Amino acid sequence: MPRSILLMTGDGIGVEIVAEAAKVLDLVNRKFSLGLEMSEAKLGGQAYDEYGAPYPEATQVKARAADAILLGAVGGPKWDGVERHLRPEQGLLDIRADLDLFANLRPAILYPQLADASSLKPELVAGLDILIVRELTGGIYFGEPRGIRTLENGERQGFNTDVYSESEIRRIAKIGFELAQKRGGRLCSVDKANVLEVTVLWREVVTEMAKDYPDVELSHLYVDNAAMQLVVEPKQFDVILTGNLFGDILSDEAAMLTGSIGMLPSASLNTDRQGMYEPCHGSAPDIAGQGIANPLATILSLSMMLRYSLAESEAAQSIDQAVGRVLDQGLRTADIYTEGTTRASTSEMGDAVVAALSE
Ligand code: NAD
Repeated sequence: MPRSILLMTGDGIGVEIVAEAAKVLDLVNRKFSLGLEMSEAKLGGQAYDEYGAPYPEATQVKARAADAILLGAVGGPKWDGVERHLRPEQGLLDIRADLDLFANLRPAILYPQLADASSLKPELVAGLDILIVRELTGGIYFGEPRGIRTLENGERQGFNTDVYSESEIRRIAKIGFELAQKRGGRLCSVDKANVLEVTVLWREVVTEMAKDYPDVELSHLYVDNAAMQLVVEPKQFDVILTGNLFGDILSDEAAMLTGSIGMLPSASLNTDRQGMYEPCHGSAPDIAGQGIANPLATILSLSMMLRYSLAESEAAQSIDQAVGRVLDQGLRTADIYTEGTTRASTSEMGDAVVAALSE
């Protein structure tokens, strides 16, 4: 049976970068006889404009049926005035919850060709290869009760609830342990167990599970220390396991260690390995429509899709290698441009990856 891939550009630069990734997907599909069938749907602001909802039913039907989804990014100032529950970013939270995409995998890899792009000294980051495993459908972003209420004295009070059940911790930790087994064998669980009960339980459950993974070396860090260690000695980390809120912040921090957010892919998986793949960055309204956005994070997201949802590691590797070759050739979009390299537009970068794959 052919496997179905759903492409969603989303908003802003999403349109430009997904167009380049689609060229690459088309080529690997033919080259490796993958038998993938592609279709398209709308999410975020463009879905709101057409259907009045950021994750409309037409998209829900296609998303549930897809084996994997490639998304550009959603959001932009055009929808700033829209009610919160209809905002583009809500579409993203809704699709994650709908498909139960609880495991967010965000690699922070520094390509040797781009070692100078990091704000840290090259020797601290050269060869950096961290994988952050973030719980994506629980914790304080989804916990109830939540809201803004008015107290008896008339003062307003905002409140949210950070909550994790044992089974939620267990299923994300399992992914963390298994990925650590396949990588460097080290898992660092990040929490705030000195202050938050929800993470006392997190630490207890993860520690208990370590018995089943004797080949993985487990360590724990409080989130404040983890944030510090990431800039002091980032190469000490292999896999970092953490909850939704801390993962959101730490993965952006780790992303910036690599110099360009335009290079970083991500995967969000459910227990069936169905996944949504997207670059770590947003819709970059400041550069949308100019043809200068870096499409490599989206192209590398395809590689993760082939690896994690479709079990096509040879095709995945060929994409990674093609990206490496293009960087070796000195091609750079504006965000990673340095003197002595060759400036490329979004489509020139996409075409160069296609050419490298065709070799
Ligand atoms: P952003 O990631 O869109 O942009 C931050 C900066 O990085 C900008 O200067 C942008 O030009 C640059 N940048 C991002 N991607 C790039 C690329 N591929 N190539 C070159 N430069 C790139 O973050 P933001 O400005 O905080 O948010 C813009 C919009 O995106 C907001 O509406 C936000 O809610 C949304 N957003 C969406 C997602 C998502 O869809 N997953 C994630 C983050 C932000």
